[in-house]
Amino acid sequence: MPAIRNLLGVVRKSAISMAGVQKKRTAFVSGMSTNGISKSIVHRGAGVATQEIAEDVPPRRTSGLNKPTVWTEFTPLARATSAINLGQGFPDWPPPAFVARAAADAFQNPQVSMYASTRGNPRLLEAITRKHSSQLNRKIEGTANVLVTVGASEGIFLAVQSFVEEGDEVVVIEPAFDLYFSSIQMANGVARYVPLRSKSKQPSSSSELHIDMDELESALSQKTKLMILNSPHNPTGKVFTQDEMQQIARVLRKYPRCLVLSDEVYEHLTFDGAKHVPFAATETDMWDRTISLYTFGKTFCATGWKLGWAVGPSTLMQRMVNIQQHIVFCVSNPIQEAAAEALEAAENPFEGFSSYYEYVTDMFNKKKDKLLNILR
Ligand code: PMP
Repeated sequence: MPAIRNLLGVVRKSAISMAGVQKKRTAFVSGMSTNGISKSIVHRGAGVATQEIAEDVPPRRTSGLNKPTVWTEFTPLARATSAINLGQGFPDWPPPAFVARAAADAFQNPQVSMYASTRGNPRLLEAITRKHSSQLNRKIEGTANVLVTVGASEGIFLAVQSFVEEGDEVVVIEPAFDLYFSSIQMANGVARYVPLRSKSKQPSSSSELHIDMDELESALSQKTKLMILNSPHNPTGKVFTQDEMQQIARVLRKYPRCLVLSDEVYEHLTFDGAKHVPFAATETDMWDRTISLYTFGKTFCATGWKLGWAVGPSTLMQRMVNIQQHIVFCVSNPIQEAAAEALEAAENPFEGFSSYYEYVTDMFNKKKDKLLNILR
């Protein structure tokens, strides 16, 4: 391990010869030495340290996270076999030109080259506010009801960390996006599963899938802190109807302690005319307990930008802001500025459609039809 030996050399040398900084260095070393790995590096030879590092057991809250995931297994497999990869939700075409242009502009703008505030770049907060105030049917305030995150993925992690105490239960509708489970595990929460059911053995459409409300009710208890809803749903594409959302709301009312994490990253990816229903807008009292998650990546075909945002009542959002400032502090400011410009432009007519959003939904429908025709 030459890198570790070099590091040891630097630490020893600095402790002996740099008398002026010795105190600082020692503090640094002893500060780190609460961790078993660092202690080995500092106090013993490199050979022993290497062995101890190899034998060091990861914290229990991260156990099993080294196992292969659908991404590490199937993405290379799809590449190797030239298969169409439907396992990972990313488009294989570039973002539209207006999005790329917005990025080029933002990276040349010195005003956004430095940190943004934790909550988010003001222009982006404003654009998000406009987009969701009409969708959620209420006035959203950027500085109270929004938090910009590193993709919706970080939004999931933040929300679970912010609200789930050790031993709290989290209800997840299965099948589900895998990050929910690891986030629950890392918060020492307990996942409770409710399966999507179908009356027919071989459903021909995701609209045949439904939650059995009795099953949902029996999964909920006074121990439930969070329910994770995902509509439009990954992996089935199911879009929960207004009626289904209202039924869920009726069940949840019996559990006032239970919050809802509504993952709506596929808000514009609905098929055959299905309309996305934001859970927070279904019933007025559901807003008070719901954190809704969105992403720039899916809608603008730019998943690598890793830009998302959470929307919710100010008290819940403030809790997430408190934690965000200790995780990433803020999200890449030029990326936020570029996303703001793209969100503003997306409201304009695009390629014969009344907005970019109309266009993108239509484009995905055409691609789905094409794929179905090939498979049939
Ligand atoms: N939620 C769901 C349901 C997803 O499918 C994904 C991405 N595959 C995410 C959240 C994460 O989104 P982002 O790329 O913005 O982190």
